[in-house]
Amino acid sequence: MIKKLLIANRGEIALRILRACKDLGIKTVAVHSEVDRNLMHVKLADESVCIGPADSKESYLSSSSIISAAEITNSDAIHPGFGFLSENADFAEQVIKSDFIFVGPKSETIRLMGDKILAKKAMNDVGITGIPGSKGPVSKDNKENKKIAKSVGYPVLIKASHGGGGRGMRVVEHEQNLEEAIKLTKNEAKLAFGNDTVFIEKFLETPRHIEFQVLCDNFGNSICLGERDCSMQRKHQKVIEEAPAIGVSAVVRKKMMKLVVSACKKINYIGAGTFEFLYQNDEFYFIEMNTRIQVEHPVTEMITGIDIVRQQLLIASGEKIGYSQEQVEIKGHAIECRINAENSKTFIPCPGKIEQFHAPGGPGVRMDTHIYNGYTVPPNYDSMIGKLISYGNNRNAAIRRMSNALNEIVIDGIETNIDLQKKLIVDPEFQKGGFSINYLENKFKKENGSR
Ligand code: ADP
Repeated sequence: MIKKLLIANRGEIALRILRACKDLGIKTVAVHSEVDRNLMHVKLADESVCIGPADSKESYLSSSSIISAAEITNSDAIHPGFGFLSENADFAEQVIKSDFIFVGPKSETIRLMGDKILAKKAMNDVGITGIPGSKGPVSKDNKENKKIAKSVGYPVLIKASHGGGGRGMRVVEHEQNLEEAIKLTKNEAKLAFGNDTVFIEKFLETPRHIEFQVLCDNFGNSICLGERDCSMQRKHQKVIEEAPAIGVSAVVRKKMMKLVVSACKKINYIGAGTFEFLYQNDEFYFIEMNTRIQVEHPVTEMITGIDIVRQQLLIASGEKIGYSQEQVEIKGHAIECRINAENSKTFIPCPGKIEQFHAPGGPGVRMDTHIYNGYTVPPNYDSMIGKLISYGNNRNAAIRRMSNALNEIVIDGIETNIDLQKKLIVDPEFQKGGFSINYLENKFKKENGSR
């Protein structure tokens, strides 16, 4: 069993990991930047180490500082959380080489899944269909690219193989723009991701984003905890997530769960992971696999009763998954609203001091956050300051509880997106469900033509 774990992250997810460690009797080490001394999990951890200045390149993204901190504190494992180094294969490799347990899959798996072309190919080999497009990178010969784009049908998407965070993608409507779009995307990809490999994919016009959560141990056991619908997005960033996804029949769910479990076995996946799909006209198309814990994992925890972070720690400790597939029972409905420190209309981040915080409560309400009265949100990191999760016997009950909880919550001193979330949760299209990933952006466009 892991005895002492270093949490290589900050904010809400760091606190979530700390709580799972405390549950299991694992000692905790918090690492933090100079502006993060007052983070809740830093105060609650058994030990803490300042690993550098506010700039994440010199702190949360510095593998050597994190590994040194693990060494001086005599930690035996490192949990990367999400973002930062969580999907950096070199970091995972370095952690293992330095004789620590990495809470996540093997570095080879992270490397494979970090390359969208290779990931798509690996999935295709195990029977999971990707979006139609080029078999590999675009050709040097524009005629060849035109042929591929024509065969998949316009509009097409030029996508960076090493892209991430919704960046490195360009839609092409007409053949005459193809060559230029490839050139531009390649240049951007080189600058942003240090690799200019791009490929062609059919651009799906009204898909939903549906993803499947898996857990796999070192003994060849893999289970799927069902799916989440994350179609409420702004600039390819999720705003509201829910589980299960409405309109996915029990038969289709079972088929997809079986498929992702068999894929996990074939690629020797270990730990928690998510298969992301776009879903259109009753078909699932694989887009990518996230080889880490995700922001939206709580909605799955609520409908299955399985603590995913606890399972990650147990698997990394060399234990078997505590559940068989038959024991996974999907019950009720859960919704998560991301709470960001930003203006509800302009989306401009709004760091600053929280003068007053009151968390909502009651049955079926969960708030995962690191904020507290008097805490100052620094300007240096992602603006997400918490997640509000509601659970009910059915979707309507979960919506009602979310609506009540959003009305109860008080965060004074900084601006937040709570007003937007209040509007979205009572939006007739949201209430109906089954909207596409473009719904929110189109709604904003209709409302004021510019956002
Ligand atoms: P990232 O690694 O940046 O998250 P993904 O491949 O997961 O990249 O895509 C991010 C988002 O971009 C998806 O959730 C979806 O909104 C959109 N997207 C990706 N591929 C397509 C496609 N072929 N057609 C339409 N939208 C797409």
